[in-house]
Amino acid sequence: MYTIYGHSYHKYSVVEIVDRLLITTGRLCRSLRKEPENVPARFSHCVAWAFAAASNFKIDVGDSLHHKYWVQKKESRRFSASQWQKVLSKRFKGSNIKAGGLYFCTTRLFEETAETLEIVSALGEIDLDDSNSEAVYLSYRGEIADLFGWLFAISDMLDIDLEATVSEYYKNGCRHQDCKGIPCTCPLEHYIDRKRVRADTMVIP
Ligand SMILES: [Zn+2]
Repeated sequence: MYTIYGHSYHKYSVVEIVDRLLITTGRLCRSLRKEPENVPARFSHCVAWAFAAASNFKIDVGDSLHHKYWVQKKESRRFSASQWQKVLSKRFKGSNIKAGGLYFCTTRLFEETAETLEIVSALGEIDLDDSNSEAVYLSYRGEIADLFGWLFAISDMLDIDLEATVSEYYKNGCRHQDCKGIPCTCPLEHYIDRKRVRADTMVIP
C-alpha cells in the first residue's frame, strides 16, 4: 500500500481523506446489500483510505492497534495484519455474531468513520503545536485503531483475510484505469472532488 500510494498521502488534507473514507464505506454498505460481486473491491478501497487516514497523521496502524488492544504486550507491536485479524477474531467474533454479524460490523465501521470525520473536521481550530496536540493525536490514534478493528471484524464475517484480499486487489499497482502506476501517479481529481469538499456538502454520489 505504501509503495503504491505512500508518496501521495501528503497531497491530501486529512479531512479530504476521511471524507473519501466515509464515501467508500457507504459504497461498501451498498455492495454488501445488493452487489456482492463488488465487495472485495469496495472493501479494499476502504482499507486503502483507512491507511491513508493513518499515514497522513503519521500514525502506524500496528502501533495504534497495540495501544488499543494491548494483546500480548511487546509482541503485538510486531504483528502482521493477518496476525491482528486472528487475535481480534478470537476475542470479538462471537460477540459480533451475536450483535448482528456482518450488518452490525458494517454499521459500526460507518459510525467510527463518521466519528473520525468529526474529529478531523475540528482539527482546523486546534494548534497542533500547543499542549492540546498530544490529546488530539491520542484521540485520533484511538479512532484509527477502531476503524481497523471494524475492518478486521468485517473480514471475519466475510470469511476473508484482510491482508490477502487487499494485497491481491492491488498486486498490479493503482487500480485507476488511467494510472495503474507503482507508485500511483493519479491527479487529485481521480479521487477527490475539491469543489464538493470546499462547499462542505456531504452529498454521497
Ligand atoms: Zn493512480
